[in-house]
Amino acid sequence: MTIPTLRNYIDGSFIDAADMTFEKTNPVNGSLIAHVAEADRDTVNAAVKAGRSALEGPWGRMTVNDRAALLRRIADRIDARFEDLLEAEVSDTGKPETLAREVDIARAAANFRAFADMIAAQSLDSYLTELPDGRQALNYALRKPLGVVAVIVPWNLPLLLLTWKVAPAIACGNAVIVKPSEDTPSSATVLAGIMSEAGVPNGVFNLVHGFGPDSAGEFLTTHPEIDGITFTGESATGSTIMRAAAPNVRPVSFELGGKNAALVFEDANVEKTLDGLMRSIFTNTGQVCLCTERVYIQRTIFEKIVSGLVARVQQLKLGMPHEDSTTTGPLISLKHREKVLDYFARAKEQGGTAIVGGGIPDMGPDLAGGAWVEPTLWTGLNHDAPVMREEVFGPVAGLIPFDTEEEAISLANDTAYGLAASVWTSDLERGHRVAGRMNVGIAWVNTWFMRDLRSPFGGMGLSGLGREGGSHSLHFYSEPTNICISLSEVEPA
Ligand code: NAD
Repeated sequence: MTIPTLRNYIDGSFIDAADMTFEKTNPVNGSLIAHVAEADRDTVNAAVKAGRSALEGPWGRMTVNDRAALLRRIADRIDARFEDLLEAEVSDTGKPETLAREVDIARAAANFRAFADMIAAQSLDSYLTELPDGRQALNYALRKPLGVVAVIVPWNLPLLLLTWKVAPAIACGNAVIVKPSEDTPSSATVLAGIMSEAGVPNGVFNLVHGFGPDSAGEFLTTHPEIDGITFTGESATGSTIMRAAAPNVRPVSFELGGKNAALVFEDANVEKTLDGLMRSIFTNTGQVCLCTERVYIQRTIFEKIVSGLVARVQQLKLGMPHEDSTTTGPLISLKHREKVLDYFARAKEQGGTAIVGGGIPDMGPDLAGGAWVEPTLWTGLNHDAPVMREEVFGPVAGLIPFDTEEEAISLANDTAYGLAASVWTSDLERGHRVAGRMNVGIAWVNTWFMRDLRSPFGGMGLSGLGREGGSHSLHFYSEPTNICISLSEVEPA
């Protein structure tokens, strides 16, 4: 089988492979699936220049309705190329095909349609101003695009997170330079072809491949002609990027890590809670920023919930992505597995007991080179143990009992992160009360990862800066200009 080379896409064309390439392997078995052309500084410069030229050309004058129509054409092309995107996403990540089909690729098309609707319906402030001296003015705001926007995304939900940024950015009339994760270059490359097929003008969507430090990521974020940076990834990387944006005072939007809590009260519906916790701990092998890694359970039902979870974990089926029975794929890479296993070792040292999992599963000789890890639950850990405070980003959670509602709230909020929480209770007042006291960007009651694309999404503390979704995204990707028109016949002397 010929191994493809994934190329950078600049100014409407895939450009010849660069001098430098890196290898992309499949985390299911370690096999080589692609060579990836790494963008050097000149390539990044060319991408920024292409974006700037696009803004100065017809793209800069395209009507909102035409941009909305373009977004819908992109969504239609995503539907048409669904299987290509699915194949790209699944071979890069090893995630179950059913998951990628229902979540990753479907959401990519939904993102473009949602922002087409939102930009078409977007209204702007206007005020009739009446001064004490009798003069009047009409004040209104116009929205202009930010300009050339750097879009830097991680590997866990590659296409979903990328389109979550690109769709509103294009809706607002920006040009984008997208840098996908070095671990998941494929679906973004397919998307570049889709942009061309959908008739996106040259230079509006550019794609550069590479790493972070001393590579495409750094060249992009330190580029003096970038007008804004939107980033999803680790909190520490966010901090580095914030420093890179500081000299030119560029706006940043950050969706960062989490150490999300679930609170299970004794009045919860046990079956529904167990199903929900399984999704929130193990979806995508625990590699969703919203995944639960801390579960606080009221002591009266602690044993019942723990044994229910263990029984369900034993039903999880690790396996090949295309098999319908597979529930759980590998981690993204052997490097990431080292990190997860290091946390497993530390959890043991810190007094934890793996009541299920805790190691590397035997997947047989064909999959021995893959990044497999056992879905794992810990008991016996103290809330203050470092493994209960740092993001692991794997199929793992620590289970800790609590006695009172106040204690549960204070445990959940005692974290440097603030992304998501879920509250499991059948008591209506408690659901509202506790969810409202979570110091997070999103708190679910009796569910998890149920999203309305119009609602604000993001985190506080180490989990991020700003919000995405609906008008929040449109605000980030545009600059308002206030126009003030005097309605008075004379100006004061
Ligand atoms: P990461 O920070 O290592 O990398 C993310 C992206 O940043 C990659 O494209 C990478 O190449 C690039 N990058 C790395 N260093 C850079 C630098 N110095 N300058 C510019 N670019 C740089 O994150 P990851 O390991 O790919 O993703 C996992 C993390 O993402 C987890 O912490 C997870 O919680 C977080 N995440 C957050 C959300 C959210 O919405 N809050 C969603 C998904 C993932």
